[in-house]
Amino acid sequence: MNYDAIVIGGGITGAGVLRDLALRGLKALLVEKDLPGRATTGASSHLIHGGVRYLLYDRPTTETTAWDSGHIVRIARPLLTRLPIVWPVYADHARGRTTIETLLESYDRFQPLKGGLPHLRLNAEETARLVPQLKRPGLRGGLVFDEWWVDPVRLVEKNLDNARANGAEVREKTAVTGLVLAGGAVKGVEVLTPRGERETLRADLVINAAGPWVDKVARLAGLSIPLRLQQGTHLVYDGNEAILRSPAGRFGLLLEAEDRERYVFVIPGGDMTLVGPTDITSPDDPDHLSPQPAETAQLLGTLRRYFDSFPERCSKTIVAARPILGQTGNAKLLSREFQVLDHAARGERSGFLTIAGGKMSDFRLMGEETGNAAVRLLKKGGSGRTHSIALDGSSVSTEGSADRPTHPLTPFLRRHPRLRELHALAHLGVGLAGHLARRLGGKTRDDTVDDFTRRYNAPASGL
Ligand SMILES: Cc1cc2nc3c(=O)[nH]c(=O)nc-3n(C[C@H](O)[C@H](O)[C@H](O)COP(=O)(O)OP(=O)(O)OC[C@H]3O[C@@H](n4cnc5c(N)ncnc54)[C@H](O)[C@@H]3O)c2cc1C
Repeated sequence: MNYDAIVIGGGITGAGVLRDLALRGLKALLVEKDLPGRATTGASSHLIHGGVRYLLYDRPTTETTAWDSGHIVRIARPLLTRLPIVWPVYADHARGRTTIETLLESYDRFQPLKGGLPHLRLNAEETARLVPQLKRPGLRGGLVFDEWWVDPVRLVEKNLDNARANGAEVREKTAVTGLVLAGGAVKGVEVLTPRGERETLRADLVINAAGPWVDKVARLAGLSIPLRLQQGTHLVYDGNEAILRSPAGRFGLLLEAEDRERYVFVIPGGDMTLVGPTDITSPDDPDHLSPQPAETAQLLGTLRRYFDSFPERCSKTIVAARPILGQTGNAKLLSREFQVLDHAARGERSGFLTIAGGKMSDFRLMGEETGNAAVRLLKKGGSGRTHSIALDGSSVSTEGSADRPTHPLTPFLRRHPRLRELHALAHLGVGLAGHLARRLGGKTRDDTVDDFTRRYNAPASGL
């Protein structure tokens, strides 16, 4: 059997690529060394979001990710739950309410792209009513912004189910141990099957979608992918209702961390609550990740800033490495952009693509761009259909959905992180001027817990 394409890696990236290829009518196989979705994807913060934080230094990524999140919401709506996130602000915080509200006003512009709702601003009293567990001294108020929660493993599985329904194959517990090389081309993969047997699988195109392992896989072809892995750890608490209970409905929290620079989510969902993630330099080998005592201490220290009684004992910790594309500069300014690398165009090997970088929240677009490259190289296959067919196979109306945001400056900003940051800050500066003008004109008001309930718990709000 000769496949059109073999995809290496069954995280959300590989699953999205496989579905894209199958919907184009290509004969595709995905090979995963473990169970699908259990690596980085399963250890994520479970959010489909544009990324508020990137508005501080990488605005195009927030916009594009919010746009693709909108497609993900449309194709996977039954898997997603609206999750408003409360951002409490205290007197000793590095960023005050005005700065944060300016950021969220900027985010509000992108919220419609992903079916998100505008932010709310609460005074201290209403914030304490909404989150009674918060410490009261120094509380200045809170802002609320809207995101989507997803079970990432189910998201992967549903992508794979839909790919299978369209003719694709998936091999679990099957590790790629080598690549079939002939002259300058990659012609397939060598695998170790669950029964410990070696097997050769052939394809016209091999697609490396191994997340933090993309460099390790590329090395099997004598190549290298520059990555900058950043480790993130979460504390996992079983059961969530007891931790963040409020009559107003379910919500998450975004907390300024102990170091007053980073932020920590508290995310309830499914039958657990996540607290994290941290963000530290990862070991180069993603097979050697382990949560560090300093990370746990940092997360617990952050919780203690806000709560008298948040449980100190969690049921487990989970760790993963963000597969960030190699770039220079400060770790806090690393872009989450993705790239499809055609190794033939780079003068390396033909028949081999790598998809690297990105987020779970733009996995559909990553799949589509990889599919476009595959069709170009294979000279067969239809056009991308992942935006118009839901994961359950039903069709999705694309009427009224926005065109993909285009950023003429993006290639330039990609190479210049400081200018990318200035570009983001210039937008926020304009936003701040507008915000202050509205305040002085008496055109803003504080919202209440009732507004929260009405806005975020309306049965069919958003997409
Ligand atoms: C702490 C943390 C929190 C995050 N939170 C969010 C969030 O809330 N929202 C969001 O959008 N993004 C988030 N991200 C980013 C997001 O999780 C990742 O971008 C995404 O999950 C990467 O998916 P992937 O498929 O590329 O990698 P992975 O999920 O790691 O999948 C790669 C797969 O390749 C397999 N593999 C590796 N080598 C081989 C081989 N030789 N043979 C066969 N299979 C192989 C692995 O077993 C693995 O299953 C977070 C990341 C981290 C680290």
